[in-house]
Amino acid sequence: MAKRLAGKTAVVTAAGQGIGRAIAEAFVAEGAKVWATDVDVQKLADLKRVKRRKLDVMKTRAVETFAEKVGPIDILANVAGFVHHGSVLDCDEAAWDFSFDLNVKSMHRTIRAFLPGMLETGGGSIINLSSGASSLKATANRYVYGATKAAVIGLTKSVAMDFIRDGVRCNAICPGTVRSPSWEDRVEALGEEVGGKDKALEMFVARQPMGRVGTAEEIAALAVYLAGDESAFTTGVAIPIDGGWTL
Ligand code: NAD
Repeated sequence: MAKRLAGKTAVVTAAGQGIGRAIAEAFVAEGAKVWATDVDVQKLADLKRVKRRKLDVMKTRAVETFAEKVGPIDILANVAGFVHHGSVLDCDEAAWDFSFDLNVKSMHRTIRAFLPGMLETGGGSIINLSSGASSLKATANRYVYGATKAAVIGLTKSVAMDFIRDGVRCNAICPGTVRSPSWEDRVEALGEEVGGKDKALEMFVARQPMGRVGTAEEIAALAVYLAGDESAFTTGVAIPIDGGWTL
């Protein structure tokens, strides 16, 4: 059977670990040529059959230079993001600015850099990592994170609308709790607040009516679908993939 992304070139941000890594691996397995990028290039070292590049998505000039080097691409997966913990009272201006820079402006940078190439070659698929913690669902202690991920959905819909006749599609993925290195850190941190890691784990699992957390591979399977031609009639949507969290 033909591979689903054969002949396509993809850029994945934050491909060093977690969901970004799983997406890069799934794209490769489906025949895409993949540029795997991360601010921490060490984390890319053991990724197979990809082109590895250091890329800090908070640096506009670096993103522009990278896009010039890579040339036109078919798939852009914007994965980089950071989870700030706390309410509005825990979020000073620096924390607000950092979260919006990494979680939202990064996508503005990469889309501005790669969209012209997509328009030149007749289209492409942009996939933005949002979250269930966004405009989809209020989540305790995810004040600025939820605000950024809601903004990602708005950004996604705007790009989808403006380029809907140009063959460019733009969709958002909204995961529930997914096992990843940074999530393991969040479990540890919550464990210190609530009296143990097991209790924290239970709380994270309880979010999903399905009774478990998700895997990065499950999110990557949706990314493959959105990246490929099977989803050609789908644009501007924010798809929950969350074990029923937002049900
Ligand atoms: P993670 O948080 O474990 O890893 C993040 C990666 O981003 C790391 O490899 C890190 O080096 C890289 N990174 C950090 N700053 C960067 C920068 N400035 N430029 C480029 N790369 C940078 O991964 P994860 O938990 O799988 O999360 C990936 C995305 O999925 C994030 O946008 C996150 O908000 C979203 N998400 C995750 C979950 C979850 O439960 N894990 C749920 C919903 C949404």
